[in-house]
Amino acid sequence: MDRRDFLKAAMFSSLGLGLACTGTPVMARGIPAKSLPGGGPGRCFVLPKSEVKAPLVDLFKIGPGPSSSHTLAPLRIASNFREAVAALPRDTLAKAARFEAHLYGSLSATGRGHRTDRAILAGLLGQKAETCDQKVMDALADDKAVFQTTIGGKGFTVGHNIIVWDAVEHHFPFSNTLVMRLMDTRGKVLFEREYYSTGGGFFAWKGQPPARRGEPKHRFGNMAEFRRLSQDTGKPLHEIMMENEMAILGVGEAEVNRHLDMVIKTMVDGVDLGLTETGLLPAPFEMHRKAKVLFDKAKAMGEADGFMQRISSYAIAVSEGNADGRLAVTAPTLGSAGTMPALVYVMKNHLKFTQEAMRRGVLAAGLMGLICKTNASVAGAEVGCQGEIGVASAMAAAMMAYASGADLATTELAATIALEHHLGMSCDPVGGFVIIPCIERNAFGALKAYNAALMARSEIVQQHWEDFDRVVAAMLETGKALPPQFRELGTAGLGVSMVDC
Ligand code: SF4
Repeated sequence: MDRRDFLKAAMFSSLGLGLACTGTPVMARGIPAKSLPGGGPGRCFVLPKSEVKAPLVDLFKIGPGPSSSHTLAPLRIASNFREAVAALPRDTLAKAARFEAHLYGSLSATGRGHRTDRAILAGLLGQKAETCDQKVMDALADDKAVFQTTIGGKGFTVGHNIIVWDAVEHHFPFSNTLVMRLMDTRGKVLFEREYYSTGGGFFAWKGQPPARRGEPKHRFGNMAEFRRLSQDTGKPLHEIMMENEMAILGVGEAEVNRHLDMVIKTMVDGVDLGLTETGLLPAPFEMHRKAKVLFDKAKAMGEADGFMQRISSYAIAVSEGNADGRLAVTAPTLGSAGTMPALVYVMKNHLKFTQEAMRRGVLAAGLMGLICKTNASVAGAEVGCQGEIGVASAMAAAMMAYASGADLATTELAATIALEHHLGMSCDPVGGFVIIPCIERNAFGALKAYNAALMARSEIVQQHWEDFDRVVAAMLETGKALPPQFRELGTAGLGVSMVDC
């Protein structure tokens, strides 16, 4: 079948006349190079080989702000190191005297603004991310204070003096590297782990054994394979995602739904709380909260302007809470934690979607987030803000489309449009704080997501050239081409132009 015949068949399919039971043609909608001037760019798209293995509980994590890679992951890393130390032989523990935490790359450059030091202390002191709220983090702010803890029956004293703000430029394989050490009284290293904060609160360490988890029931690595899977099995997106989550975690549907409901509730609560707050955000420069102001002023606006401004206020409400260290959901990161909640709030309170529709929407968002994480990155330190707000916007667009009843092709298109129009966005937070430009960026991510879902539902999907895998590949290539100073170091772009000497 040539391309023209295929497109015709695909359009009939969208009208219910095709053969595919899901209405989702398995196709790669690439533009033929020969149709372009000069025969195209001289190279073309190659679908990466990969497999999505992470469950949604890893993608949608709850933890304290302001940053998933610089706050949440270091907390989880320190907590993991604490567990590893507790399991050391007794004679090793008997010699242990102190900890050291060496921060490299952007963790070192911007960790103070992201509360990385407090997060490491919290993890070593036994705090868990899901319950470590801003009060706990505030109590760890004093850099003269010391804290006692017992690990494996051995008492330790920890304070800010264990944190070493090490080299920004380094040769570790991952930008955000954290080396945790346990030392004896003479400074000899008894045990150490080289950890990598890989974005979105995920972490790994050198020599880490494979996780003891179940295998996904349905194998896919990208959207092309997911489309084929859906077509071959006749299963809709939410069923495949639910079955994979159950298989990987070894839990039942009720348990997965419990997690999805917690994600939705944390997001909605974050908006509700943020809309009541006024005053300054914790920062070394004066930064007024504005979610409530925007929300209140929206009431006096016309319907269209008021709705747009409400969406902005919802996103900013959560982002301001995150900047203040409140618990939020990584979607896919904490820097981008306000984008998806804005549309969750719209779905719940404006569109009155059922809880089941909202869960399905979150599953669709999760699919897009996991594909981005697997084939590119969701870390600003790796691919710039396109990997945080861009991916968040794609997830939110897919959620809105799928929860509204869109099919897989339309859901993919919504995510594709949203991500495509964030390509090239650098990460340049002023002073390393997740405030400027991060807070407002969440509002724009949410508005673009809403628009993308509307456009996708109005288009004839098969007439659209871009597909999600191609845009994810473009994001990765663009991110790699970004100079390092535009990847979360805060030493370029707005991180410089906003600062007076
Ligand atoms: S600029 Fe974007 S990627 Fe960078 S910290 Fe802010 S939200 Fe995250």
